[in-house]
Amino acid sequence: MLQPAQLFLDEMGELAAIIPAKDPVVRAYYAPIPSFGEKSHQPIIPVCEPLLSGNELAYVQEAVKSNWISSAGSFIQSFEEQFAAACAVRYGVACANGTVALHLALATLGLQPGDEVIIPTFTMIATANAVTYCGATPVLVDNEPAYWQMDPEQVAAKITPRTKAIVPVHIYGHPVDMDPLLALGQKHGIYIIEDAAEAHGAEYKGRRTGGLGDAACFSFYGNKILTTGEGGMITTDNEEIARLAWNLRDHAFSNERHFWHRFIGFNYRMTNLQAAVGLGQVEQLESFVKMRRANAAYYSQLLRDVPGLTTPPEAAWAKNVFWMYGITVDEQAYGINRDALRVALAERGIETRTFFIPMHCQPVYWQQFKGQRFPVAERLCRDGFYLPSATSLTKKQIERVVDAIREICPNL
Ligand SMILES: *Cc1c(COP(=O)(O)O)cnc(C)c1O
Repeated sequence: MLQPAQLFLDEMGELAAIIPAKDPVVRAYYAPIPSFGEKSHQPIIPVCEPLLSGNELAYVQEAVKSNWISSAGSFIQSFEEQFAAACAVRYGVACANGTVALHLALATLGLQPGDEVIIPTFTMIATANAVTYCGATPVLVDNEPAYWQMDPEQVAAKITPRTKAIVPVHIYGHPVDMDPLLALGQKHGIYIIEDAAEAHGAEYKGRRTGGLGDAACFSFYGNKILTTGEGGMITTDNEEIARLAWNLRDHAFSNERHFWHRFIGFNYRMTNLQAAVGLGQVEQLESFVKMRRANAAYYSQLLRDVPGLTTPPEAAWAKNVFWMYGITVDEQAYGINRDALRVALAERGIETRTFFIPMHCQPVYWQQFKGQRFPVAERLCRDGFYLPSATSLTKKQIERVVDAIREICPNL
């Protein structure tokens, strides 16, 4: 039987100190109104929620009425075409979620056991798992400290004759510095597969994420910038990758005859119902990006003079879409640490989420990466968390969050 990987904090040495405390329970509460001696009800501000404000419902009704609710139907192609156009590429391959988009994209490269794929240690575990599903070996690099993204110099140092792909992850909606990675790909014949699950609409030097490498993978999970409930997409300009991905997505049925298979394929299809929601979403991408950038600018303006907080960076060459508005807390300067701040915010009805726990600190990958250290990712894991970040966040909600952060700060 399957046994869970065992790892206890006391076996982790120094690294135990970066592992976050359990999530605090968030409850709606009654805040005093000082001048009246009364209390006003303060509902929970969730860390994220979808915004279904366009044609989503109309398109879903159309799909149901047409009786095309499974994985054939016109919304799938429309969604693929419109999303690919939004990324300025020719092909979109819709699939069941972001994790399988990664698996599918890597599978088109024909990875073999022993092949290496370079990924950042600071990512969501699906990036590493997709490499593992292919039987290949994830190789980890740290982030650079300025923009919290995969460090291209460290990637160069990790390339070996077995390196087949690099997977830059645009963390929290900020693009990775892609040009040095693309140059490495050219020089060594290595594929660049973007993990753009958090970066719908983001730009690198004026070019959209999703069209920067050989292929890119998006997620449409409920908390992503665009959502289909569950869903994913590969975007690419490479016709061969697109054709293989469409084929592998659908059990690799052959063109010669039905029930005739020349590859081990998958059922990673998206349904027409999900694509109907997706089409309604992608029509709103530009306005969603504007709203997220305005929300982030307002947060950063209000938080400017709070001691010990770092607000999310944006490179001169980047358009950050702020999938999550992430901050780091310097315990000395702010007065309490990240975990204590999160507890105090939860008591005030404000839901937050800690940054990723790096791959080299995961129980399931501990043996594989034992002894490797990545100081930037470790510091982000210890000090970082994100504030409520929904597209639909109001100015009033942002003000309530920032008021709470100021009120909690012992050094203000
Ligand atoms: C969300 C996410 C994924 C996985 O997407 P799912 O749709 O949840 O499978 C992969 N990589 C990153 C960086 C993500 O944030």
